[in-house]
Amino acid sequence: MAGLRPRSGLGRDGLDGWAARLEAEWQAIFTQRQIPPDYLEIWWHCSSCRDSGWLRPDEKCSCLVQQEIDYLYHQSELPPELREQTFDTFRVDLYPPEFRSFMEQVVAECKAFAARVASGQATENLVFRGGVGLGKTHLSSAIAHTVLRSARSVIYLTLPELLDRIRHYKFEAADPEALSLLREVDLLILDDLGGEKVSEFSVQELFVLINYRIAHRLPMLVSTNLSWTDLEGAYTARIASRLMGSSLVLKLDGDDIRLLLKRARSQGPMEARPSR
Ligand SMILES: [Zn+2]
Repeated sequence: MAGLRPRSGLGRDGLDGWAARLEAEWQAIFTQRQIPPDYLEIWWHCSSCRDSGWLRPDEKCSCLVQQEIDYLYHQSELPPELREQTFDTFRVDLYPPEFRSFMEQVVAECKAFAARVASGQATENLVFRGGVGLGKTHLSSAIAHTVLRSARSVIYLTLPELLDRIRHYKFEAADPEALSLLREVDLLILDDLGGEKVSEFSVQELFVLINYRIAHRLPMLVSTNLSWTDLEGAYTARIASRLMGSSLVLKLDGDDIRLLLKRARSQGPMEARPSR
């Protein structure tokens, strides 16, 4: 260490003076070149946390929370056409008068479910049963938005999409992390569970997934137009009973509602179903 000597003999005062002279020189150059005087100052995207993301060691800044939400939205696969389908845009007044108080209860149940998932307290699943165009997709989307905005993760898929993902992650990509996301996501939404013929592989994978999520108290939201019997027929009795036994079931049905909604829709948009 003896060979290392201070490069200059400046003391504290000397250094301060040197810095002040440099600063003045910079400012003179800036003025001459018409550069803003604060050009060399550090600019933060977020002045609250100076881009660290944290206000205190245990308190995230709102900018970090927003970034997480943006990421979660991206990851959720929520179809773009459902961006606007929130609780605020769900219109109970478009239902026939005799169904409105029932629909208000349905919406209240959905909001309560969304709040439980958003606070990590959901212990059961929610199943929507009912025909096309009665609001199942809009309500599923509204629940997804509420959960995502609370910075919890959501994955929104149809069953064929879900099975494709499982097959892909398992056999083609060999991506156990992506596969475990399907198991561990805070809310898994299976949109429009239909009566298509499913293979033995699909039934087995679906059973494993549902079982895992129920065992770990991870909620699912399933919408389907199938009756109990059809559900058993398409997916076996053990899946149907596992799902229904652990779910709050909301039934939206009635030809009258459908007809009247169709008429209401021709006057204004009520529900846009995702086209896939
Ligand atoms: Zn910040």
